[in-house]
Amino acid sequence: MRKILIVGNWKMNLNTSEASLLVHRLAERIKIHRDIEVVLAPSMLTLQPLSLQIDRRKFRLAAQNAYFRDEGAFTGEVSFTMLRDLVHYVIIGHSERRHIFDETLDTIRDKVAAAVRNEITPILCVGETKTERLDGETKQVLHDQLMSGLSNLTAKEVGAAVIAYEPVWAIGSGDIAAPDKVADAVSYIRSYVKDVFGARGANKLRVLYGGSVTPDVISGYLGISGVDGFLVGGASLNYESFSGIVESTRKWQRRHAEVENER
Ligand code: PEP
Repeated sequence: MRKILIVGNWKMNLNTSEASLLVHRLAERIKIHRDIEVVLAPSMLTLQPLSLQIDRRKFRLAAQNAYFRDEGAFTGEVSFTMLRDLVHYVIIGHSERRHIFDETLDTIRDKVAAAVRNEITPILCVGETKTERLDGETKQVLHDQLMSGLSNLTAKEVGAAVIAYEPVWAIGSGDIAAPDKVADAVSYIRSYVKDVFGARGANKLRVLYGGSVTPDVISGYLGISGVDGFLVGGASLNYESFSGIVESTRKWQRRHAEVENER
């Protein structure tokens, strides 16, 4: 069974003391859950101090970005090699990196490969813009992003990776994607991986949904077969809403297990 993964992407928010306070508050509310993995993606600056503060039974860390070369004359960059003892995950191909920082398919492909080379699990973000959806291009966009992003990985490496389906129009907009649309996209992602890398990788791969997730909406997504958790932006900056997402997920899991047992 795939373990549920909930990732909080803090983006370019919170200085060192604010980040430390948020972790402190989250730690008070979030219990150790055997079946849920909770990951925090703070700014690069705060990764190191938070790595000393977190209870590793409760939280793991992710970087929001890194550069694909291992070392060298790349002013301002941090490599996956530098991060390998610090984080379990790196978010790659987030729509803000694709659209604000013009990251290309090739750059994202190289970053995914660099993450795997350095034994860090990539969380590869994919998703269509509003125009692409209205033009009926969602599957084509997902196809292109997956084909390129995963192209340097083996089936085993793909199985160990994470894909986050994040429709660009749902990110930070409060405009959540309808569960049936998410179900279509997630099933397309898994079928693409199955066709190209085989059933084993497709069954192991974790697929998250991201886009204006709050505690109130998550049960609609957890019910979708193939959704293994969430990538959360805005709501992860608030300890009540982020711990609420974790708690509601745990309650959903428990109810789901009871229903399964009664069958
Ligand atoms: C994100 O940044 O990946 C995200 C999903 O943001 P939000 O939850 O704020 O829409």
